[in-house]
Formats: sequence, C-alpha cells, structure tokens
Amino acid sequence: MSTAGSDRPYKGTFVEADRNGEYVNLGRNYKVKIEGSLLVLSELRIPLVKVKSAERVGPGAALVFLDGRNVAKLLMLTTNNLFGLSIGRNKHLNEFVDCVNLATERAKAAVSGNELAAAQAAAPADTCHDCGVRGGEPLAFGRVYGFVSITRWTTSPGVYCKAHATKRGVRSLLLTGLLGWWSLVGFLRTSSFIRLNARSLHQHSTLPAPLIKAMTLAAYLPAALVVLLIYEVVAGSS
Ligand SMILES: [Zn+2]
Repeated sequence: MSTAGSDRPYKGTFVEADRNGEYVNLGRNYKVKIEGSLLVLSELRIPLVKVKSAERVGPGAALVFLDGRNVAKLLMLTTNNLFGLSIGRNKHLNEFVDCVNLATERAKAAVSGNELAAAQAAAPADTCHDCGVRGGEPLAFGRVYGFVSITRWTTSPGVYCKAHATKRGVRSLLLTGLLGWWSLVGFLRTSSFIRLNARSLHQHSTLPAPLIKAMTLAAYLPAALVVLLIYEVVAGSS
C-alpha cells in the first residue's frame, strides 16, 4: 500500500547519485522532509510550487526544480549502499517520488494561477546559475580526486557569467591537477578533466589565454613527477 495517500509527515534519508541514478562513493547526504509547502533537503528549502518533476531513474530518483532565480536544477538521489547492498531501495525511492508528487500537486492547487505562473516562469537561458546576471554561456567544469583505491569525480555543467566561469574553472583546474593523479583511475581520468576545464576557460572567462595555458601546464606537473619517480625507481633497481 502506498503511504502517499496518508497525511503522515514524510521523512527520508538519501545520498547523491549520478545522472543514471547510480550510487556514488563519498556522495553527500540529504535529510529529506516535507514541511508545509516546502520540500526540505538538508539545508536546501524548495517551495513545492517550484518542483517541476520527481521520478524514478534507474536505481535512483531525479528531482527537477527551479531555484531562487528560477533556473532549473537537477538533483539525483538514491539510498545508501550498506556493505554493497541496497535493502529497501525501491520502496524508499517510490515513497519519496509519490509523496513529493502528491504534495506538489496539493501546493500548486492551493495558490492562484498568477502566483503559480510567477513561481514557474523559467529564467532566460543566459542567466548565470551562480549570480543571476545575464550574458552567461553554457559550460562544463569537472574535478577529479584520486587517492590510492578511491577515485571521485564530479562535473558541474551550467550557464555561468565570465566571473563565475573564471572562479569555477580555475578552482577545478588547479584542484584536479593537484589531487586527481594519485590513484590509477584518477591518473587515467585527470588529463581529460584538465582539458575540459581549460577548454571552458578559453571559451568564457576573464583570463588571458597565455595564463590559462600556463595553469594547464602546471596541472600536468604532478603527473610528470610521478612518471619521473617511477622511472627513477625502475632504472635505479636494474
Ligand atoms: Zn555569475
């Protein structure tokens, strides 16, 4: 029996998932509840009238909502993997989707047509996702962290103004260069993420091209040191 029809207050705990709804290592946790006309995901408080959809995707769920600037955001959730198992995952995710959809329907029915239209009006396509100014461009940045057997990577596609593209790009490029190389998977992925960040910075940022090139080169230096060290150890032992 679905609990969506009851008026029991909804509560659940979920973790971040990737775009296919798959569990990711070291993803962040969300304590989820419905509070009156708000959907609360930890510190994120979303008015239910701004929820566009909640649906199951693979072993997870996708929540699409409009943020404070009416920019559409996608949040992928799933349940925790305990010892590699996912007990009750389908039940918890179905309950989440049912409860959010029912509460959203009720919240939308409770406001006037004009209020709903204002809440749901999409922002212009060139609105910066970080600050709301116009003139942004669609870009993607990504980071890799690798340490021995653990590798984590994230990408943040979005529309960003030059200032925020620069801030995100420089941080992603340098952090990936510094922290990406230190696992096997990380070593294999880091190069493509460095190029992704450099490409986005060249496309839309406040930095001159030579500076972006210099930072890109610096991001490869740790890899060069690792390769030299391995060569030194191998050559030294023969
Ligand atoms: Zn901005």
